[in-house]
Parts: sequence; structure tokens; C-alpha cells
Amino acid sequence: MAVRAVAGRLNAVTRAVFPHFCAGCGEEGEVACNKCLPALIAPGKGLFACPGCGCDIGLGVFAGRMGVPPKALQVPSMTRSQFKVTDGRAGATHKSAEVPDLMRSLSLLEVAPAQPSNCGLATCAAASLDSLSCAVRYDGSALGGLLRLWKYERVQAAETIISTAFRRFLEQQCSDFLLKYDGATVVPVPLHFLRQVSRGFNQSESLARAFADVLSLRVDSNVLKRSFGGTSQASLEDKSRREENISEMFNVSRRVAAGAKFVLIDDVATTGATLRDCARALKRAGAGEVHAVTLLRK
Ligand SMILES: [Zn+2]
Ligand SMILES: [Zn+2]
Repeated sequence: MAVRAVAGRLNAVTRAVFPHFCAGCGEEGEVACNKCLPALIAPGKGLFACPGCGCDIGLGVFAGRMGVPPKALQVPSMTRSQFKVTDGRAGATHKSAEVPDLMRSLSLLEVAPAQPSNCGLATCAAASLDSLSCAVRYDGSALGGLLRLWKYERVQAAETIISTAFRRFLEQQCSDFLLKYDGATVVPVPLHFLRQVSRGFNQSESLARAFADVLSLRVDSNVLKRSFGGTSQASLEDKSRREENISEMFNVSRRVAAGAKFVLIDDVATTGATLRDCARALKRAGAGEVHAVTLLRK
């Protein structure tokens, strides 16, 4: 969506009684000033995490787990022919297998350094979740502030910007990854019933609709149920306690078609424990493949 169109929609939103401050520069006025808006809705670079333990993984590892051969990787706004000249060797043509390295050197996609030693790849490979990717890193991102405004203060302008940023990330993401979601049912991570009633909406459902819209997929907001609220995740510092707290929190409301593919959508991924629990419930019900995409990565 064009910047002007987004700005127009923002202007159309009735101003709240309380003043807003730009999430980018802090200036009083709108939740995003005209100067900061383009950066806020710029498509995220894409971040990849191990679906088993949540640690950062590189694009190459992610591509391998998704079964996407390196030669198929594409970068937005660059045609494959443009890969030919960029590393100083003018005129040199890269072999397909070199493309991920080239991407790294171009800094087009944020790629984690080495595989951290705490990632048990063997056990992680058997995780209930098949893949986990995110649009933007939470730290240092103004989208985090906008997300809080949307979730806790229901500021509609914040939702518009977040939704636009998520759509642009999807539209300009590596198209071959998106093809892996073809035929999938999009499932927002549900809130507990009481929390949904008190908040009035589920932010993940809105993101799921944006995702489904871009990829022409179907959303199913009823297949997963959150069986009890548990303690707020943010208050549980310890990773294992967090894992325990959400255990068995999700159930499916019905059996799903054997081998069916799902994409879980959530606003923020931290360790990925919530997403793994959702994936476990879906796979117990017959799902074959469960991927996850989130807006932010903590
Ligand atoms: Zn600003
Ligand atoms: Zn791992």
C-alpha cells in the first residue's frame, strides 16, 4: 500500500482525546508522523528461528528445513540476474549454491552468525513445529510500541500501520518460502476466552487475516482453543517454567484432515513454546505440517 494511502487512512481516524506521540521520533501528534511512517511500514528483513528451541538460525538452515533449494531463493526487488555483480568480482556469475552467502554479504536479510551451541539440532529437528519465521526484531523496533498501543489501548491507527508493515513483509518476502504455505489453513494463536472478551479482539486474528489475504488462504479461528489462561507469559522469566505453564493449554475443537497443512500466526514469538504447543495439538488431531509466522521476534 502506498505511503500516501496509509497516511490518508490515518488522517481519517478520529483523534483520541489523549495526545499521541510518534512511535518513531516521539513527536506529539500522531502515532506515526509523516517523516517516520515510511520506515515503520518498510517491509521487515525477515528473521528465522529454530522451531525446536527458538534460537536464531541462518537463512541457509531455514531454507534447508523448509526444503527450499538455495537456487530457488529470491530477494525482493532484485532479479536473479542482478546476483551476478555485487561482490567486487565484476561480471562474475555466482553459482546457485553461493546465493545465500551473497545475500549475507548484501545484508538484505538478517542472518544469525554461527549456530548457537545450545541448539540440539537432532531434538529440534523432531519439534512439533516445522518452521518459525518473523518479520521484524522486537528490540529497537517502533512496531513494538505500536503493538502495545493497539493491544492495550485499541488505537486503530496503530493496527493500520502494523497490518501494513506485515503485509509488505509478506508481499516482498522470499516468494519461494510463501509457496511452501500454499494450501495451508491459517490459524491465529487464540487468546483465552476471558482475555478475548476483556480486550474485545485478538490481535493475532487480525494479522492472520492479513496473511491469508496476501496468500489467498483460508482462516480458521475456531480449530484451536485455549483451555485455560495460565500465568501471564511475561511474568515467567524462566524458560522451563514458561514451557510448563503453557503445557496442554491448547486443544483442537475437532479433528482435522489427515496430513493437513497449517500456518500459525501470532504477534510476537519469544522461545516459540506457545507455537510449539499449538502445533502439538494440531498434529495430535491429524495435521501433517505446521509452520509459524509472527510479526515480531523477541
Ligand atoms: Zn516521527
Ligand atoms: Zn534448536
